[in-house]
Amino acid sequence: MSQSVCILGATGSIGQSTLKVLEQHPDQYSVFAVSAFSRIDELVQICKQHHPKIVVVPKANIDQLQKRFAEHQLTNIEILTDQAGLENIASHADVDVVMAAIVGAAGLMPTLAAIKAGKRVLLANKEALVMTGDLMMREARQHQALLLPVDSEHNAIFQCLPHNYLDVEKNGQPQLGVSQILLTASGGPFLNHSLEQLKTVTPEQACKHPNWSMGQKISVDSATLMNKGLELIEACHLFSIHEHFVTVVIHPQSIIHSMVQYVDGSTLAQMGQPDMCTPIAHALAWPQRIKTQVPRLDVFTQSQLDFQAPDLVRFPALGLARQAMKAGGIMPAILNAANEIAVDAFLKRKISFLQITQTVEHALNQVQNNAAESIEMILHMDQRAREVASHYIKQLES
Ligand code: NAD
Ligand code: MG
Repeated sequence: MSQSVCILGATGSIGQSTLKVLEQHPDQYSVFAVSAFSRIDELVQICKQHHPKIVVVPKANIDQLQKRFAEHQLTNIEILTDQAGLENIASHADVDVVMAAIVGAAGLMPTLAAIKAGKRVLLANKEALVMTGDLMMREARQHQALLLPVDSEHNAIFQCLPHNYLDVEKNGQPQLGVSQILLTASGGPFLNHSLEQLKTVTPEQACKHPNWSMGQKISVDSATLMNKGLELIEACHLFSIHEHFVTVVIHPQSIIHSMVQYVDGSTLAQMGQPDMCTPIAHALAWPQRIKTQVPRLDVFTQSQLDFQAPDLVRFPALGLARQAMKAGGIMPAILNAANEIAVDAFLKRKISFLQITQTVEHALNQVQNNAAESIEMILHMDQRAREVASHYIKQLES
C-alpha cells in the first residue's frame, strides 16, 4: 500500500532531497502535505509536480501564494498557516510518514506533534532533539512513534548497530556487545585553518562545504564543529548512551559516515557517497531498502581514507557541546538556542566566526542549569538563552 508523506521544510536542502527520493517511487509514496517558510516560488514548483493536498506557509505569505496558485491554475490545495498549520499536517490522520526537516527550534513543536500522533518520524531536525532530549524520546516510546535518524552519521550508526538495538533497555551503557560509537566529522571548510586565519573567515567561505551541499545554518555549524557537538548530543539520546561512549573522529573524505565498535574487536562502518538521498531512502523504507540515484561507491578511485582527532582549541564548540551534555538538564537547550542566535548574527556579519562559539560559551555561563521538566520550561529557557546571546552580541558590536 502507498505511504502518505508530510514534509516539514520541503523547500530546504533535506526537503528537496526527500522529494528526489520520493519521485523515484511513485507507487510506494505520495506527498500529502508540505511546508515552506520564505521560498514561495520553490513551493509552487513542488505543488505543480507533487500535488499535495495541504501546504503550510507563514500567514504573511498567504496572499502571495494564492496569487501564484491562481497563475498556475493550482486548485484544490488547502493552505494552512504558522505553527498550528505545521502541527496539523504533522499529526494529520491521513499521514503515515513525517519528514522533520525544518531547521532549528522552529521545528520542535511540529516534530513533537508527529511523535505524539505515533507517526514514522524521519528526524533531520537535530536541534529539536538536542533541546528536548529524554523528553522527546519518552514521548516517542509512549506513543509508539518510530523515530528514525536521517542525519547521515546517526543513520550510519543505526545501520551498524544490532537490528534490535532500539528495543533493549540501555540506561546509558552500550548493550548487545557494542563498546563504542565513532562519530565521524568532515572537519568542515576550515579544517586546516590556523586560529589566526579563523578570525577573518566570511559567511561565504563558511557556507562552502567541501563535501556536502546543505542549508546555511548547518553549513556554519559544520565549519565551527558545533554541528558535531549537536550530533554528539543527538547520538546520546537516539541510542541512549553516555557521552563518553561516543568518540568524534575527523574523516575529511566523508565516505565513512560513522562506525560502531564491538567488544570482540569488530568495527562496523557504513560507507557511501556523501549524498543525503541515501540516509533519507534508508529511513523511509527501513527495514526494507529502496533504490536511489546516488552513484555507488567506487572503492578504486576512493582508495584513501584519513582519520584524525578533532582540535578543541581551534574548534571549541565541540568541547562546549560535550560539557553541556555532561551537565544535562537545560544546558543542551541553552547551547542550541545561543548557537542559533550567534550563527544568524554571523551570517548577517554582526559578529566574527570565532565570536559564534564565544557567544554560546557566554550563554552557558550566564544561565543557571535546571532539570528539563517540561516543554514549556525548555521553551522558556530557550527564550532566555536567546536574550542573553542577543545582549552579548550587541556588546560585541559596540
Ligand atoms: P535549509 O535551510 O535548506 O531548509 C530549512 C527548511 O526549514 C526550509 O524548508 C524552510 O522553509 C524551513 N524553515 C526555516 N525556518 C523556518 C521557520 N521559522 N518556520 C518554519 N519553517 C522554517 O536547511 P537544511 O540543510 O535542509 O536542514 C534542515 C534540518 O536538517 C536542519 O535541522 C539540519 O541540521 C538537518 N540536517 C541537514 C542536513 C543537510 O545535508 N542539509 C544533514 C543532516 C541534518
Ligand atoms: Mg550529520
